[in-house]
Amino acid sequence: MQDRKSLPPAVRRRFQTGRPCLDLAHTGGEDEFAVWEIVHTPADLGHWLGVILDIPEIATDPADLPTFRTLRAALDRTARGAAESNPPHPTDIDTINTIARTPPLIPHLTPDASLTYPAPTAQAALSTLARDAIDLFASPLATRIRVCASDNCALLFVDASRPGRRRWCSMDRCGNLTKVRKYRTTD
Ligand SMILES: [Zn+2]
Repeated sequence: MQDRKSLPPAVRRRFQTGRPCLDLAHTGGEDEFAVWEIVHTPADLGHWLGVILDIPEIATDPADLPTFRTLRAALDRTARGAAESNPPHPTDIDTINTIARTPPLIPHLTPDASLTYPAPTAQAALSTLARDAIDLFASPLATRIRVCASDNCALLFVDASRPGRRRWCSMDRCGNLTKVRKYRTTD
């Protein structure tokens, strides 16, 4: 099991959106996002689902990949739409609802009071992520979904700050880079 802290910084950045369903959108994508793809095989999918959900790697098979890609595209479009106050597309709503109908990961309390998910499957993990998306898109937090304001960053995040004026995926990177750039251009 790989936890987020052990990931290289460039990869770790993808999984700091504040919501697992948005973290899934950051595993790659189509068109301009295809260069960022990290899920090429069923094994990749099992690995990254584990990282995103903070559970051990999940066994997957090739049939899981199309479900994953369809869900990821729907989540990405819906989140980027929400960031511009656009309603979700009916096809994407259908995709999310259909995948959420599959039984999700079932939490299990162990004798030492820790949480496990016995016999996790990729289909159950994708259902858990679709349910997280429904929870997010139907909540007041949907208006807090943002796309990073840095010119060369398209990462999504949920702005959970009290004033709701957060602009960057991370202050460490994009926030400071933007400030440095501004400083240089006004110098
Ligand atoms: Zn950024």
